[in-house]
Order: sequence, then structure tokens, then C-alpha cells
Amino acid sequence: MTRTLAEAAAEAATCTRCALAGARTQVVFGVGNPDAELLFIGEAPGMHEDKQGIPFVGAAGQLLTRMLEGIGRSRDEVYIANVIKCRPPGNRDPLPAEIEACTPWLIEQISLIQPSVIATLGNFATKFVLQTEQGITRMRGSVYPWHGRKVIPTFHPAAILHGGGEKSRQFADLQEDFALIKRTLDAPPPAPPAASLADYGRTEAPPPDDQLELF
Ligand code: URA
Repeated sequence: MTRTLAEAAAEAATCTRCALAGARTQVVFGVGNPDAELLFIGEAPGMHEDKQGIPFVGAAGQLLTRMLEGIGRSRDEVYIANVIKCRPPGNRDPLPAEIEACTPWLIEQISLIQPSVIATLGNFATKFVLQTEQGITRMRGSVYPWHGRKVIPTFHPAAILHGGGEKSRQFADLQEDFALIKRTLDAPPPAPPAASLADYGRTEAPPPDDQLELF
């Protein structure tokens, strides 16, 4: 029997699967609508997130919230998570062993939420989810099919804040990517394939379950 997202979060709160457990204030599991159509995936909690237990609450989070409002969505409607659920000391890059230990939490989140669109924020989340070596500048601006869902990579809001700010080319790209997210969410679902008379009366095997066993 599958459990709820709240039950998974309760177990994650005491996770000791990697050494980050010893350095964190608390686990930052994720926030938002457990039935969200749209899931954002960032890298790892920073200082503010570690203190509050909520992802994207610092300056980058405030920009994310504004970008969402710009496409008529609130934080409550979407779900926001990170690849890594605990803050790496000094905001260093997560280590391979930490990523490996934490991956089952993200897979469980995706399996329970079943979002139709996943927006990966920045290089780290994009490379991790799409298993690519291409950087975010090359990857952004497109929709990638992924396990029956759509992945839309875009810049990490922190990269905008530390880069050229809201007058930069990257910020214009970020706005373009959020418009793409909105169009993708608003697009009607594809029509079922036209029935062919050749298949009439034949029984079909059900489609396989969408398994998230990529990593
Ligand atoms: N950056 C991230 O990638 N995640 C957060 O939760 C905050 C900042």
C-alpha cells in the first residue's frame, strides 16, 4: 500500500541516510499541494530553508514566488522540493553519496504527487533529472518528455540574483521559460489516437505502469 506525502515527510524528518543529518537544523522535505500539476525541483536548502524547514524562502525563493504569481499561480497550488533535503554545510555542492542517499525521497515525491510538468531550477537539478551533461543555458527554453511527464529546465533564481539581476538577458529567459511552463500547463491533453477498424474487437494489453526507476 502506498503512503501519503505527509507520511513520507514524517519519516524523512528523522532521516539519517547520509552525514548531512549531523549538520542540519532540520530536514527540508518540500512544500505545497500534494496533488500539484507543477513540481519545482531546486538543488538543496540554504541557510534560511534549514532554519525554517521550508524550501525557497530566502531571496531566491521570493523571486520564485514572484515568477509564479506572474503566471497566475500561487505557491500553494504547486509543489516545491529540492534534490537534496538537508543543507550542505556552507552551501557546498552536494556529494555523490549524499545525492544517492537522498534520491529515493525525490522519487517517492514524484510518484505520490504525479505532476504533469516538472520545472528543474538550475544546472544541478536539470543534470540530475534529465541525466545530461549539457548546461542550463543549452537546456532551457524547451520541453523534454520524461516518464510520461514534461520537464522544463530553467535558470535557478539565485543565478539571476547573483548574475545580472532583473535587467539581464537571463532574467528575460527566465520569464520566457515561465511563459512556456504556463502554456504547457494550459495546453489541452492530447486527443486519444483515432480508432482503426483493423483493431476493432481486439483486446489490448493495458499500458505499463509509469515506473520511476531511472536513477
Ligand atoms: N536554493 C535551492 O536550490 N533550494 C532552496 O530551497 C533554496 C535555495
